[in-house]
Amino acid sequence: MSSTTNSSSNTNSSSGKPDWHARAAALKIDGRPVIGGKRVETQAGQQFDCISPIDGKSLGQVSRCQAADVDAAVRAARSAFDDGRWSERPPAARKKILQNFADKILAAKEELALLETLDMGKPIQYALGVDVPATARCIAWYGEAVDKIYDEIAPTGPNALALIRREPMGVIGAIVPWNYPMIMSAWKLGPALAAGNSVVLKPSEKSPLTALRLAELALEAGMPDGVFNVVPGYGHEAGEALALHMDVDAIGFTGSTRVGRKMLDYAGRSNLKRVYNELGGKSAFLVFPDFDDLKRAAQTVAGAMFFNQGESCNAPSRVLVHESIADEFVAMVAAEAPKYTPGDPLDPKTVMGAIVDEGQMRTVLGYIEGARAEGAQARVGGQQVRSESGGYFVEPTVFDGVTEGMTIAREEIFGPVLSVLRFKDEADAVRIANDSPFGLQASVWSSHIDRAHRVARKLRAGTVHVNQYDEDDITVPFGGYKQSGNGRDKSLHAFDKYTELKTTWLRINR
Ligand code: NAD
Repeated sequence: MSSTTNSSSNTNSSSGKPDWHARAAALKIDGRPVIGGKRVETQAGQQFDCISPIDGKSLGQVSRCQAADVDAAVRAARSAFDDGRWSERPPAARKKILQNFADKILAAKEELALLETLDMGKPIQYALGVDVPATARCIAWYGEAVDKIYDEIAPTGPNALALIRREPMGVIGAIVPWNYPMIMSAWKLGPALAAGNSVVLKPSEKSPLTALRLAELALEAGMPDGVFNVVPGYGHEAGEALALHMDVDAIGFTGSTRVGRKMLDYAGRSNLKRVYNELGGKSAFLVFPDFDDLKRAAQTVAGAMFFNQGESCNAPSRVLVHESIADEFVAMVAAEAPKYTPGDPLDPKTVMGAIVDEGQMRTVLGYIEGARAEGAQARVGGQQVRSESGGYFVEPTVFDGVTEGMTIAREEIFGPVLSVLRFKDEADAVRIANDSPFGLQASVWSSHIDRAHRVARKLRAGTVHVNQYDEDDITVPFGGYKQSGNGRDKSLHAFDKYTELKTTWLRINR
């Protein structure tokens, strides 16, 4: 039964569509952790206000889990793992429950979308049309996959048999960010749970609500108690306790490169748990003068950059354009940007919502101010807007005249700010694109197939798009080179992160 309730009867009588404001007003949140199959009180009883970036008001109180609560969650997860209530179920049985879980997510789509929008500010149409279905698909896909994967027998000699099996690792700590709270959780939960592990999920303190609800839906779907636990709280408290815990076998972390470094340190200081980091990006979007549809390239970069308020790890935030077409291309991108002017996130027509909190908005505005001081020119945007709402909104912003050494060319802003740099030739373009500590994604726009392949091969990034930026699917790996992380989320490769390879040798007597 839902403990985070809202009245689904709040429907607009003329359109028959949800009245999101009425539902938001009726919302009552339960911010307590889910440990061992139920909502529990924290041991110290501390809480924090869950602030909506839409209006700066509190949505309610959420538990501030401490080390003792994390320890209780890890113990619940370990005991569930050890007694085999999930880990030793046949894969087909785990599949069935994960499919039920995905169905429950879809059935609760309006409730989950509302929570996601109120909690982190994204437009309701995308929470409903992108985040919820992608979350359900991810859970269902890993459930579907797990009873179709075979183990190996090694080609050894006739006197022995070597079985190479993938076994679940045990207890997985998942620590996720606030930009796609449900999807980032699902990218860990899907493969980790399907493989038979138990999970302790620590959502961001900026967006804890949907993770807590997901845990309840999993229980309703038949997930045994203790297999999927959620501990809301701050990073330096609950997050650190989870990553330092001696009985956690692996950490699946998505977040900033700064905190990703800490994950490696925590592992070194504790039990050398496996650490899989999915970190920041500063993805390059290379536009060559031979590309025959500059308008489509401009529309694509604006759409990808300003989607989710620019708060996407793979946002193409560095446009590198050949100097001969740069003025024309910048004008096209600048003409696209105002189409993403922020609006009320609960209005189904809004395409850009609120920045996640006041601190992040100040960070974004600080980068904008710094860019001006360093000599870049804002062609469009650059201001806070809708301040009368009490929320945190920033205009889509395009900077021209950006040079390689400028801060906005090098650092991840994580807001709706696009930098345009100019290059002289192909070698220059590749050099600038690769001159970054990050290597998450990149994109090449060229009508020459040789050039497209040549440049794609030289770019040091986990994913390279050619003449598009929109394709995405659960079947393909997602992750970065360099300081964008290691390991890969999504696809069958993600099972590598949450399983151990076990070899069993058997002697065969002749
Ligand atoms: P963040 O690193 O501040 O926080 C991420 C998570 O780590 C949160 O749950 C937070 O509470 C926790 N945390 C913070 N400090 C901690 C500590 N000392 N010990 C343990 N846990 C701690 O990142 P964020 O601001 O939430 O998210 C934005 C970042 O996430 C961006 O850099 C973005 O690029 C990245 N990101 C990457 C991907 C990817 O797949 N590569 C996807 C989404 C977001």
